[in-house]
Amino acid sequence: MAGRRVVILLRKVRYMKNLVILALGAATLFAADFVAEGDRWWAHIQFLADDSLQGRETGSDGYREAVKYVAGKMETFGLKPAGTSGYLQQVKFETRQLVDEESSITIAREGGEEVLDRLDATQSTRADLAPAAEAAMVFVGYGLRVPEAKYDDLAGVDLRGKIAVYVNSTGALDAPGPVKSHVGTAAERWTLLKAAGAIGTATIMNPRTPAGAAGGRGGRGAAPAGAPAATDAADAAGGRGAGGRGPQKAFLLADPELQESVGQKVAIAITRRGGDKFFAGSGHTMDEIMKLAAENQPLPKFPLVGTLRTKATVKREMVEAPNVAGVLPGSDPKLKDEYVIMSAHLDHVGVGRAINGDTVYNGAMDDASGIATILEIARIMKDSGAKPKRSILFLAVAGEEKGELGSRYFASRPTVDRKHIVADINLDMFMPLFELKTIEVQGLAESTLGDTIREAANEFEVKVQADKEPDQNRFIRSDQYSFIRDGVPSLAFKFGYEFGTPEDKIFHDWIRDRYHKPSDDLNQPVNKASAAKFNRIIASLLLRVADNPARPQWKDDSFFKRFAK
Ligand SMILES: [Zn+2]
Repeated sequence: MAGRRVVILLRKVRYMKNLVILALGAATLFAADFVAEGDRWWAHIQFLADDSLQGRETGSDGYREAVKYVAGKMETFGLKPAGTSGYLQQVKFETRQLVDEESSITIAREGGEEVLDRLDATQSTRADLAPAAEAAMVFVGYGLRVPEAKYDDLAGVDLRGKIAVYVNSTGALDAPGPVKSHVGTAAERWTLLKAAGAIGTATIMNPRTPAGAAGGRGGRGAAPAGAPAATDAADAAGGRGAGGRGPQKAFLLADPELQESVGQKVAIAITRRGGDKFFAGSGHTMDEIMKLAAENQPLPKFPLVGTLRTKATVKREMVEAPNVAGVLPGSDPKLKDEYVIMSAHLDHVGVGRAINGDTVYNGAMDDASGIATILEIARIMKDSGAKPKRSILFLAVAGEEKGELGSRYFASRPTVDRKHIVADINLDMFMPLFELKTIEVQGLAESTLGDTIREAANEFEVKVQADKEPDQNRFIRSDQYSFIRDGVPSLAFKFGYEFGTPEDKIFHDWIRDRYHKPSDDLNQPVNKASAAKFNRIIASLLLRVADNPARPQWKDDSFFKRFAK
């Protein structure tokens, strides 16, 4: 009994504190009851992360149910349809699956041919695998060329007609986190290596990546703790989906103009065991290379001995799954034609290998939480009668877990004039697992949006911090990156914390225990009231961006400014 009274008292205090903060600060929005709003937010997650939606894999029945739900709520909350057919923008995907028994990797050297198995190396169907290929190999260190950092692994290396073998890390490159993230993506690397004449790649996983991390993820957006390596390694494995049940389907956008591995006839991920088979006879060993890479040391470049031969039979299918888009039209006669995008991904990784008897990968935090927030913000704006000057476009995308594909499609084929997209505010796993004191902002220093989120957070007496773990590549690991590459200033967020605190432990325990596992479900402790407060801050950010006479701008010293049109 006593315990219960204490709880009620604490609740009351928390509730009053919340109201006080709002009375002090929030001019733009109604005073909020964070407890009630947290419950509203959670109700969306309860629907989307229910077992009946089967983990919302792109193209599945569960995903279609989620689409219906989101489109329905967008309508309820007064958003106008902003797809190509009502609220939907249909996206066509091509799936590719390796036919194992008709595919092989061998290394031919004097005296014979060595056949490699799955424990040595695997082929990635994200590439344009040739039915048969044969080429010499060159080890090119980290395989990077970044002129502004005066860094070049390819200097003096002849890659013409060859396979570029590299350690999938940005290792010895000394550059800001977002730059490393960008140049370390599979797509950027392939663009560079292709231009240097390579016909394919073979990648060695970053030794700093935790064991097994490359397994369960579909693509770049899905890279686990331990990217950069995992980005490519997961790509290279062809995306083993939630289950790790052997070779699964890789997803690509069906539109050939949006495929990023054109011309890549060979794409191999090399395991630690396989590494020594590639290095044999070169005078170098896997241990030596891994030791240097683990310390981010410069790596030697040298030709490998022998000829790599690959055979690949790929089974292709078409899959459709829509993005969902609704707009709150702007009120200013001129600015209403400009759009602030509020995005999150609707898909998750589906059904897979059982963990503790559970096969449904519910994706409650990843990213039903982000979808719930965009719906709750739409609701807040409707109920508060918000009249933003610019239009706010709420976007739920498909295919994030397959490599940020739905957002890439929308950014490249937007349903509104692409020149008029002024910003993307993206939410992916913002991790409301403890009290909100600090917001961690990815891309904080890159554009004027960083200043705007400071103002919005300040209004709620919440601090702002920059990305604390730039090596995790979070700035490019979700859908905002599709917009950044198209020149649009963007931000993404996490609940912030200081290293060494209980919050630090909660965050990292979650990554270890629940990330892309069936336990990211409805039975986990979540701080709903803090999520509601976060939602209010993001709503305030959106309104500030929508109402500012000036469009958001990249900072002059931002690496990403180069993409601005
Ligand atoms: Zn995910």
